[in-house]
Amino acid sequence: MTIKTFTFNPFMENTYVAYDETKECVIIDPGCVTETEQKTLQQFISDNKLTVRHLINTHLHLDHSFGNLFVEKAYGILAKAHNADAFLLQQISAQAEAFGMHYDERPELRSFLTEKDTVKFGNVTLTVIHVPGHSPGSLCFYDAASATLFAGDVLFQGSIGRTDLPKGNYEQLIDGIGKKLFVLPDDTTVYCGHGPTTTIGYEKVYNPYL
Ligand SMILES: [Zn+2]
Repeated sequence: MTIKTFTFNPFMENTYVAYDETKECVIIDPGCVTETEQKTLQQFISDNKLTVRHLINTHLHLDHSFGNLFVEKAYGILAKAHNADAFLLQQISAQAEAFGMHYDERPELRSFLTEKDTVKFGNVTLTVIHVPGHSPGSLCFYDAASATLFAGDVLFQGSIGRTDLPKGNYEQLIDGIGKKLFVLPDDTTVYCGHGPTTTIGYEKVYNPYL
């Protein structure tokens, strides 16, 4: 599996495109908000002749879902995320205004993912792991074959997701990371929603929250 990282929008959010030799791909958390960012994503997909199979969100905070409508329209697919985060979409327009950004259309979540679901593209199978606490519907996507985890805002290098946002829960987050992520192999590469990549083994030793 090949992974391309883009860092988009004022929140410096990581958007990932993952693909394999079949040229099928998934887009994870399209945070592209400006036309330039949207074109950058689209250009990468066309330059690499990728076929977009899925649009998946680790969670639905605005910085991770700004580009959902754009991707849905551009590639004729529906965003998939956990139903417990659907309420966040109702607040996106108001939140965007609060940050001085405009977002006219209110997207709706019509396609859902939950614990142990799988997302397939090419020869890759991502397994869905539900780790609530940063948001109630926070998901991680795990590929055992390449020892890769897309962690969204659940786990960062040396940190964890904030839990002071609507329906956040600190104990739930710590518990979920311990029971569902720290059981993965130590050499699992973790692609975070913000900042650099890390590994499960590194976080077990050095993460001060865990
Ligand atoms: Zn978030």
